[in-house]
Amino acid sequence: MTDLFASRVRNGLKITDENETLRRQLAQRDTTITDQAAEIKRLREVLRGIEWPRQTCDRSPYCPMCGGLRHDGHKTDCALVAALSPSKTETDSTPTEKP
Ligand SMILES: [Zn+2]
Repeated sequence: MTDLFASRVRNGLKITDENETLRRQLAQRDTTITDQAAEIKRLREVLRGIEWPRQTCDRSPYCPMCGGLRHDGHKTDCALVAALSPSKTETDSTPTEKP
C-alpha cells in the first residue's frame, strides 16, 4: 500500500517536472520567434531604405535588384520585393479583424 502511494507521488512529481520543462521550452520558443520577427522587421526596414536609390540626373530611381523603374514598379521576379513582402506564414498568423 505504501509502495503504491509512493509510486503515484513519484509519478505525479515526474509529470509535474515534465510539464514545467515543456512550459519553459514553449516560453523559450515564443521568445525566439518574437526575436526573429523583430529581426525580420529590422532587416526589411534596411531593404526599404535601398529599394529605390536616389534619382540620378538622367534616370528616375530604379531597383538595384531587378532594374525596374520606380514609376513602373519591380519586375515580377524581383528578389528584393519578394524579401520586402510578408511571407504566407506571416500573413496566416496575423490576426484578422472580424466585422
Ligand atoms: Zn526590384
